[in-house]
Amino acid sequence: MIQLKSAEQILLMRRAGLVVAEGLEAMTAAVRAGVTTAEIDAVGREVLARRGATSNFLGYGAEYGTPFPAVACISVNEELVHGIPGPRVLADGDVVSIDFGAVVEGWHGDAARTVVVGQAAQEDLDLIDVVRDAFWAGTRRMRAGGKVSDISKAIEQAIRAHGRYGVLRDFTGHGIGDAMHMAPDVPNYHVRGRSPVIEPGTVLAIEPMVTRGTHRTLDLDDGWTVVSRDGSRGAHWENTVALTERGLWVLTEPDGGQSLLGDLFGPLGD
Ligand code: MG
Repeated sequence: MIQLKSAEQILLMRRAGLVVAEGLEAMTAAVRAGVTTAEIDAVGREVLARRGATSNFLGYGAEYGTPFPAVACISVNEELVHGIPGPRVLADGDVVSIDFGAVVEGWHGDAARTVVVGQAAQEDLDLIDVVRDAFWAGTRRMRAGGKVSDISKAIEQAIRAHGRYGVLRDFTGHGIGDAMHMAPDVPNYHVRGRSPVIEPGTVLAIEPMVTRGTHRTLDLDDGWTVVSRDGSRGAHWENTVALTERGLWVLTEPDGGQSLLGDLFGPLGD
């Protein structure tokens, strides 16, 4: 059920992951008042071109409806995920989620970050802390012989420990490899019952999505943008994470997750 990757394949996914990390770093650095979301997308496009990588977002979903027209999903404030970059001008205090991916030699990377433009409200900074903490809490539970539901449970517990937040149920993390979305789903809340077992060679996109209000979402008419039903702001934190024979390797973090994983860190290569 879960596609297991060889060491060679994980090393190729690391190359894609580093392009994703570089793109997200450049795009989040470009976020400021007065810039349009299309301009942020162009920064990501430029990184892909410079690194000889292709986009797994551009043209996505053509078989279901409107193909996604950009290399990043950029979602502002009550837009939670899948926002389409365009003429929207960012303003001071906006909460901006950027979800970005890259393909290198057929292998995919996928990650997301949320930042605030200029002067941030404390509640928005707290929201971003919650979603980032939840990502790391879930990732630490990705263990050989463990289950995907261990990750889901840890994410939900981490969010609940911070207070009342909406945990999106309509969207989940996912397996990733020679396609962006693969089995298994990785929900951000505990689901009872059977759950796939994790083994070395498993690679997952772990991605909690949290709001300051409801978990209920609404799809906009553009065919992509997902907003919160109550208008509350959301945050999204995602990385592509491999379980190697040595431990965890966060493929879309520049340091592979070393600084936050401690003994669990287990990269491949020298
Ligand atoms: Mg994803």
